[in-house]
Amino acid sequence: MISEKLTINNGKQINWKTTIFIVGYHVFLLLSLPFYFMYADFHAGTYLAAFALFWASGLSITAGYHRCFSHKAYKLHPIVEYVLVFFGTMAVQASVLRWAYEHRLHHAHVDTDKDPYNINKGFWYAHILWMFEKLNPVDPKVVPDLVKNKLLVFQDRYYIVLMILTNAIAFFAVGYAFQDYWGAFFIAVWLRIFCLQHCTWFINSLAHTWGSKHFSLEHSAVDNYMIALLTFGEGYHNYHHTFANDYRNGIRWYHFDPSKWLIWSLSKVGLASNLKQTDSLTIKKRMVMEHKELLIETLGNYISDAKQELEKQVHDLSERILARISEFVRLREQYQSQKDAGEPSTLNQISNRIKEIQAELQADWNQWKSLSKSILKGKSLAISR
Ligand SMILES: [Zn+2]
Ligand SMILES: [Zn+2]
Repeated sequence: MISEKLTINNGKQINWKTTIFIVGYHVFLLLSLPFYFMYADFHAGTYLAAFALFWASGLSITAGYHRCFSHKAYKLHPIVEYVLVFFGTMAVQASVLRWAYEHRLHHAHVDTDKDPYNINKGFWYAHILWMFEKLNPVDPKVVPDLVKNKLLVFQDRYYIVLMILTNAIAFFAVGYAFQDYWGAFFIAVWLRIFCLQHCTWFINSLAHTWGSKHFSLEHSAVDNYMIALLTFGEGYHNYHHTFANDYRNGIRWYHFDPSKWLIWSLSKVGLASNLKQTDSLTIKKRMVMEHKELLIETLGNYISDAKQELEKQVHDLSERILARISEFVRLREQYQSQKDAGEPSTLNQISNRIKEIQAELQADWNQWKSLSKSILKGKSLAISR
């Protein structure tokens, strides 16, 4: 007897609604878009509006769904919260509750069977196929903070209606503004949804396969600026998995991270607050500990006479850097407590010592980078900061 319940290879039931929707609209676009491009009039305004909607809904996912709701990396002003939930709903990537639930599981169980988009099940599984499986109901214990938010509960309850409504608004607004309803339908709605969904899905697939590991070797997440260009700054994924509560993904000013720039700008006008940022010394400390492990492992394969000397250098230098960081943190706290207690007598002395340590630390860090590079000779853990 043929089983009524079709299953995917790992025995999980198929999520028919999502599968039919995703496969259906891909096939529809593939068949209809060539005719649209061949016969429809070109309206530059429609493309500009589609591009603006792509950014608005994309940033609502990265800055809103991801960094604010899933990671609590900062707090949003209620007005902006409404705006981000509106455009996030338009992105057709499920409700905030569902999205954050899956994402928190991804971080907590990355690369294991409990990771909803486990990269070890293959690139295409992590990219799209995981959604074709029947998903577990959202467990409120994973998102206890979000189930208290009335807006998010409302969005979750009426998600399908709201998703259709927000896209209908986009369709009528663009169609009316440029008197181009065909363009609004194909470009501003469907092609925009297609591009944005795949860009978001790249974070689960490409950002776990293609790039370098600067901050941690413990998980599959990688850093890649090319992916950052496609994902509103989410391509610095190795950093993100290592320091998930940081509101930034690209930590340097020149890293392409428009989500970070948006959050920072909102905070400057009072529309975002409590921005969490990992201390640069904590980042350095983590990097030294990770690199040390890799360098010792690499040196284990060396046959040269310099092996022992290099091992000693790695040990000594890493210990020195860690000791200096601890000393720096201790002095900084001491400076602050004396300042608070109104004891200015030794403040200058402490401040000078802090400056000295900073200079020593920089010199050690430069030495560490060149030592690491010479040992690794092009191995996968790039040391560039
Ligand atoms: Zn990830
Ligand atoms: Zn995340």
